[in-house]
Amino acid sequence: MNINIILSIDSATIKASPIIDYLIIGAGLAGSSLAWRLGINKYNYKIFDSRNLASASQVAAGFINPVTGKWMTESWKIDSLMPKAKAFYQDIEERLGINIVQDLPIRRYFINQEDPIRARRRIKNPRYANYFDPILEKGSNPNGIIDDFGSIPIRQGSWVNVPSLIQNLKSYFKSQDSLIDDTFDANQLEQNGQHWNYRGIKTKNIVFCQGIHTRENPFFKDLPIIPIKGDVLDIRLKDIQLPLGLYYKKRWLHSLKTKNQDFLYRIGASYDVGNSDTIPCSSAREELVSVLKDMLGTNLLFEIEEHRSGIRPTTKDAKPLLIRHPTHSSLFAINGLGSKGSAIAPYLSELFMDLMGKEFPKF
Ligand SMILES: Cc1cc2nc3c(=O)[nH]c(=O)nc-3n(C[C@H](O)[C@H](O)[C@H](O)COP(=O)(O)OP(=O)(O)OC[C@H]3O[C@@H](n4cnc5c(N)ncnc54)[C@H](O)[C@@H]3O)c2cc1C
Repeated sequence: MNINIILSIDSATIKASPIIDYLIIGAGLAGSSLAWRLGINKYNYKIFDSRNLASASQVAAGFINPVTGKWMTESWKIDSLMPKAKAFYQDIEERLGINIVQDLPIRRYFINQEDPIRARRRIKNPRYANYFDPILEKGSNPNGIIDDFGSIPIRQGSWVNVPSLIQNLKSYFKSQDSLIDDTFDANQLEQNGQHWNYRGIKTKNIVFCQGIHTRENPFFKDLPIIPIKGDVLDIRLKDIQLPLGLYYKKRWLHSLKTKNQDFLYRIGASYDVGNSDTIPCSSAREELVSVLKDMLGTNLLFEIEEHRSGIRPTTKDAKPLLIRHPTHSSLFAINGLGSKGSAIAPYLSELFMDLMGKEFPKF
């Protein structure tokens, strides 16, 4: 087993013996977006990713929703993030001949009497003008979801199939001889004048995009990342067929079609602050089943097909981190994508390239 790994590293190393521009650690949304952009801009790069480490991007639901949270507020920088993200993913789709992003109709159900009052206030605010359709009064446009207080459709949402995106990008990086499928051990890094040496790979810069695994990195272990565990269930509903889209009532319920064109429903996500255990959790499953029954009725017939967990790498103020190491100016970290990686990753990779050679801010 070990011999195989050493051989694969050695073969990558021989081809990489000239000094490369960038070594990226982590092929989740953050690292893959950066590697893609570097490649398009003709930089040479290698990207390490370990299939044995947990990755939030493998579990990400992939929604880009302009209005979120209990108070139905605009997501951070969403006006500029959303068009950038759509253009970025569409470019990948075109160049690789794949489908990974689609428009997502969103209907948010009110859960108390204050919600419609708040929604009416939001609708009058010009900042929200592009994001809301008129309120649907209680009981209108029925679809099977219990509707006690009415609902509001949200416009301009998108769904990025993140696991499929990552799988396709990794295949592409592999085809470019840029992907190294191994765990990177930052303790083995050696600085050699202007470049870094890692087991024979020489690079000018290293960008750590490790999600919660930054805690094991001696250079960036103190990043203020808060792990937030999320569980998701894939379910089959027996008697109900909801139109494709996203329904939000306490939690979200995503109606989607599989490759075989049959309906699949996904419900999520639990939100367990401080928990970084990646094993699916029975209490989260019970919570999600209870939300599902609140939405569709206690007599609902359903089957749980899959239960997954992931850890969101989050920050206290929910803003991402783009950081240059204080003493090693060629070491960087991109992290803290939180619950919004699909919208934020394309922006951060663009910003990273704009900022090269300049001062790096903390958001
Ligand atoms: C349940 C759930 C639902 C979510 N839903 C949404 C959503 O609807 N919309 C949205 O935008 N976001 C959502 N997110 C958030 C999204 O998943 C994250 O923001 C995003 O995936 C973070 O990406 P990342 O690249 O920073 O981290 P990760 O995806 O965790 O990637 C880090 C990568 O680094 C690799 N790595 C780390 N250390 C090493 C090492 N030493 N050597 C080699 N490889 C290493 C890991 O293997 C991993 O692949 C959700 C997250 C969860 C858990």
